[in-house]
Amino acid sequence: MTGVPRRPPSSPLHPVSCESCDAPIFFAATAGRKVVPVDAARRADGSVAVSQDTAGTWHARILRSGEEPGPHEHRHMAHWATCRPLAADLDRATRQLAMLTPPAEPDPLF
Ligand SMILES: [Zn+2]
Repeated sequence: MTGVPRRPPSSPLHPVSCESCDAPIFFAATAGRKVVPVDAARRADGSVAVSQDTAGTWHARILRSGEEPGPHEHRHMAHWATCRPLAADLDRATRQLAMLTPPAEPDPLF
């Protein structure tokens, strides 16, 4: 063993529970080397194409509108699209960021 994995191993067939809503999810790597939570269940209208490479690593790719998954990919939903607590957290973070953004006009006192 070299090092400790940052996430428990997970897959569509062996999902882990979301810390926010307890839904079965697994983690997949994006092309940008980020790890994203994905709903374990396949969804015909899912916007994420999921595949597994020969090393066993799960990969996620956001499908463009109208794009079909490849022959070795399956459609899933990104978990942040279905997780209400997570969506609320993201919402809050977005609002906090908006508050931290400096105003467009310089302060007249300076
Ligand atoms: Zn969740």
